[in-house]
Amino acid sequence: MFQTSALLLLLASLGASASPVDLSARETTKEFVSPPGLNLTYSSPFNSALPNVVIMATGGTIAGAANSATSSGVYSAGSIGVEALIDAVPDLLNISNIYGYQIANVGSPSINSTIQLQIAQAANAILCAPDSTTEGVVVTHGTDTLEETAFFLDLTVNCGKPVVVVGAMRPATAYSADGPANLLQAVTAAASPLSKDRGALITMNDRVGSAWYTQKTHVNYLDTFKAPEPGYIGGFFNNRLFYYNTPATPVFKKTFDVSNITALPRVDIIYGHQEFDARLMEAALELGDVKGLVLASPNGGVGAEAIIARVAEQVPVVRHVRINVGMIAPSAEAPTANNVTISSGLVNNQKSRIQLQLALATGADPRETFEEPLRSILYA
Ligand code: ASP
Repeated sequence: MFQTSALLLLLASLGASASPVDLSARETTKEFVSPPGLNLTYSSPFNSALPNVVIMATGGTIAGAANSATSSGVYSAGSIGVEALIDAVPDLLNISNIYGYQIANVGSPSINSTIQLQIAQAANAILCAPDSTTEGVVVTHGTDTLEETAFFLDLTVNCGKPVVVVGAMRPATAYSADGPANLLQAVTAAASPLSKDRGALITMNDRVGSAWYTQKTHVNYLDTFKAPEPGYIGGFFNNRLFYYNTPATPVFKKTFDVSNITALPRVDIIYGHQEFDARLMEAALELGDVKGLVLASPNGGVGAEAIIARVAEQVPVVRHVRINVGMIAPSAEAPTANNVTISSGLVNNQKSRIQLQLALATGADPRETFEEPLRSILYA
């Protein structure tokens, strides 16, 4: 079924199997024990000389299948299970012991905050417990909303160990499927001590990006995940991982403890344009369960600002624009009235939605969350 897996098996049998992770200085690994409440779907034979890496599979194109190898645009996402994903890349087992969970098997538009909370809580339990035996977690995910889950995990799993989110632009059945190489690189990054203290990562197409900055930029092509202003933080050469700089944290990053959170409030994004009717925001509030809004809109429009101010009196409204790169700077002083929108800073629309949900769920002040990190730098 998988042309790539046949080739990789051949290479493995020819001895092309040196681990790309430097294993020389590491202590022997203790066996991974799955935390209570999680059903382990796959585990590789244990080798105490290798680090442990956990793969949480959620579906997407990386697990997609089409009925022809030439079909890379029409296929069903989330058709292949975590075991088949791992089996297609035998070299994974030269890098680490692999433990797999099937968290979901859906296209990424169906990933919701219940699944995100489940992944964050599991990743914290697996990586951050004092007796953790695991070096890193890899999450396989559909690319359309991958940056949202990666950003969510960046804000909620913060004990210094890597969480690497990865997908594919071509289904597993396509000629030149990118999933196997992307998965190999993701596991390489998750297993590597070089990846520590860099936050959640997105690895795709030979590049490593910080989840805080990286976003999907092209609908069709492999070269889609980019961090337009700060750029990539690392890459792969012959599957050897390298970083350009020592570890760093985005200066505007806020973190959230979701260990006791069971649900996130609903936040919607409203898209503005010429002749935008801001009553759409009031209509969103009339749905009843909306606790915040992100307004992706150019300023102004006849009558719009008065409606926006009215809505901002009822729920926090984070303001970005439609262009997903650049800064919406806060005012020099935090406004005192509660009918003033919140500036998104450098957080794009879909990530602003996630950050507002997390602020509301954990009792953090939304304006402080978005604006203070920038205010203290821009106006100091
Ligand atoms: N529709 C797919 C998804 O996001 C696209 C992909 O994975 O690239 O699940």
